[in-house]
Amino acid sequence: MAVVEDDAAPMDILRFDLSPREIPTSWYNILPDLPEEVPPPIDPRTREPVDPALLTRLFPKTLVQQEVSKERFLEIPAEVLEAYRSFARRPTPLFRARNLEKALGTPAEIYYKYEGVTPTGSHKINTALAQAYYNKLEGVERLVTETGAGQWGSALSAASSYFGLKTRVYMVRVSYMQKPYRRTLMELFGAEVYPSPSDKTSFGRSLLKEDPNHPGSLGIAISEAIEDVLGDEKAKYSLGSVLNHVLLHQTVIGLEAMKQFEEAGVSPDIMIGAVGGGSNFAGFTYPFIGERLRGSRNTRFIAVEPRASPSMTRGVYDYDFGDTAGMTPLLKMHTLGHKYRVPPIHAGGLRYHGVAPTLSILINHGIVEPRAYHQTEVFGAAHMFTKAEGIVPAPESAHAVKAAIDEALKAKESGRRVVIAFNLSGHGLLDLQGYREYLDGSLQDFEPEEIPAKTRGRS
Ligand SMILES: *Cc1c(COP(=O)(O)O)cnc(C)c1O
Repeated sequence: MAVVEDDAAPMDILRFDLSPREIPTSWYNILPDLPEEVPPPIDPRTREPVDPALLTRLFPKTLVQQEVSKERFLEIPAEVLEAYRSFARRPTPLFRARNLEKALGTPAEIYYKYEGVTPTGSHKINTALAQAYYNKLEGVERLVTETGAGQWGSALSAASSYFGLKTRVYMVRVSYMQKPYRRTLMELFGAEVYPSPSDKTSFGRSLLKEDPNHPGSLGIAISEAIEDVLGDEKAKYSLGSVLNHVLLHQTVIGLEAMKQFEEAGVSPDIMIGAVGGGSNFAGFTYPFIGERLRGSRNTRFIAVEPRASPSMTRGVYDYDFGDTAGMTPLLKMHTLGHKYRVPPIHAGGLRYHGVAPTLSILINHGIVEPRAYHQTEVFGAAHMFTKAEGIVPAPESAHAVKAAIDEALKAKESGRRVVIAFNLSGHGLLDLQGYREYLDGSLQDFEPEEIPAKTRGRS
C-alpha cells in the first residue's frame, strides 16, 4: 500500500473550479473604459448613423440597448444565469497545462480556460442563451441565423430549444456538405438547416443561377438570414460574434477566469485568444483589459488569426459591410473587404472578413497585439497539445495554442517564469477531418499574395 509521507512534496494543483454559486452575476461592458468612442454603425445609403428603428427590426430592444450601453456592468437576468448553470454547464474549468510545460521544458506556467465542456462544445452558447432569452421575452417566435462550420448554428439551436423558440440556420454550403455532424446536432435541437446559397431567398437564388454548386460563404449566409427575417414579422436575426452585445455576453468567461486566477494565486502576464469576429477573445480578455485601461494591470494581450484571413494584421481600418450582399449597416473595423473570398481553411469559425469594432480600437491603440499563423503550424501545435493534455482543440482554438507554445518557448530562451493563459474556446472532436489531412500531410497553407484593393473597405 502506498503511504504518503507528511513531508512529501505538495501535489501541484492543476484544476481551478468555481462552484455554481460563484458564476458572475453581471457581464462586463468595455465601452466606458475604451480609449475612444466606438464610431457608430452607419447607414450605407445616407452615410448617417443608422436609425435604431432599423436595428430593432432585426434584434430585440434590449440587445440594441446593450449594443450602446455605457454602464460598466450589466446584470445577467436570473433566467440566463439558471441556463448558464443547468444547460451550459458553467462555470467552466481553468486548467494548468503542466504536461505541456514539461514537454516544452519551459519555466513558464501555462493555463487555459476550457469552453469545450459546454453541450455544443464551444463558448458560443454563452451569447446564444442570452440572445434566445431576450427574444423570447419580447414575443419573438423564430430566430434566423447563419453558420459556417456549425458551432454558432448548433449553439443557437440548443439555446432556442431551451427557451422554446424555432430556429432556421443558413449553413455555408461547403460546410453543409463537409460537416454533416453539426447539421445533425442542429436538427436534433429542432432547427431547420439550409445550405447557403439556398433557394429560400432571392439573393440565394440569384447566386445559384450563376453557379448551382456555389460553395457559399459566411457573408452570403448572413445576407440570406437577414432577407429571411425582413420577410417575417415574427422572426428576428441573431449574430454569433462581432457586435458589442455578443462580446458583452462572452465576458462571463473572463470574469470566471479572474476568480480562478485568484484561487490559483497567480496573475497572467500574457493572455491569448483566437480571433474570428473576436467574441471568445473579448470574452476571455476584456475584463482584464478593462483593468489595464484603468491602470491596475500590465498584462500583454495577443490576438491570433489565420494568415489566410488576416483582417487584423493586413486589413484596413474603415467602414465596411458585415455581409456580402451589402444589407447590413456599415461598421468601422479592421477588414479585408466584404467581398474578400477567404480560402477554405479548416478553422471555419475564423473565415470572416472583419473583426469587432471594439477590438479594432484596442489594436489601433497598441493594447492588443495581433498575430497570424498558417494552418499547418497551427495543427502541429494542436497535435503537441493533444498528446500532452489529452484534449483535441477546435482548429479555431488551436491558433491560441500555437501562440501560447511560442510564448512558452521564448520564456525558455530567456529563462523567465512568465504566466501564460489562453482560451481554449472549443474542442475539435467534430473537426477531425482537418486533423486527418494534417496526419496525411495533405494540409495546405494559403498566403494571400495581396489583398485586392477593390475588395477593401467601403464599397
Ligand atoms: C466561432 C469560433 C471561434 C471564432 O469566433 P470568435 O467570435 O472570434 O470567438 C473560435 N473558436 C471556436 C471554438 C468557435 O466556435
